[in-house]
Amino acid sequence: MKRERGLFNALAAAIVLFLAVLALVGPGPWLDQARPAAGTALGSYNPLAGRVIAIDPGHGGADRGASHPDSDLSEKDIVLDLALRLRDLLVAAGVQVVLTREDDPPGKLGLANAENLGRRLEVARQAGAECFVSIHVNKFASSRYWGAQTFYWSEVPGSRALADHLQRALRAVQQGNRRGIVNLPYFVLRNNDVPAALVEVGFISHPEERQKLNDGAYRQQLAEALFRGLASFWAEVPRARGR
Ligand SMILES: [Zn+2]
Repeated sequence: MKRERGLFNALAAAIVLFLAVLALVGPGPWLDQARPAAGTALGSYNPLAGRVIAIDPGHGGADRGASHPDSDLSEKDIVLDLALRLRDLLVAAGVQVVLTREDDPPGKLGLANAENLGRRLEVARQAGAECFVSIHVNKFASSRYWGAQTFYWSEVPGSRALADHLQRALRAVQQGNRRGIVNLPYFVLRNNDVPAALVEVGFISHPEERQKLNDGAYRQQLAEALFRGLASFWAEVPRARGR
């Protein structure tokens, strides 16, 4: 009897330890802030495994994108770093990631802008990308505005949902950001035939946000948010038969 109680106590201690570790570690990178579809739990199901996802770091080369006189920070560098962080997270989840550029200047894209954007779409299409996420940094004349905003084009099926998942995930790491999603026919959105979203992760013209965007730990947070947004988007898309 005494021995049994000892065994019971050891078991109870083991369970408490297990729960404590679980509480510390959390249930997994995409489960904590994902928004599961109504009535379903993600459980151990990985909605990203086997997906082909295109990540498009905006600008590159001579095209620096947005910048600010108070800093040598360029949009093209921020978004490339963010995209590479996002790629690593996705690859670890079993995704085949297609980067439209992974260096600077972007070797495989050439320089002319319109042609460059067309080639980004071609790179994604040829690799069989199932969705397309373009990453940018915003800028405005007034330094008041801050916060991520996500764009989509309503004529391309799935894009609104993709934008919605990404924007929700970004808002979760940007307390006070109440921006919604915006329907706009940007080139890379209207010329896509898979769900596509363009994310402006923040404003380089806002002093505090500019400082944050210069911080690798913050960019990692943004990459993790985009990862969670992609996971929750794909969790809602039914798998094709045989996949
Ligand atoms: Zn841009």
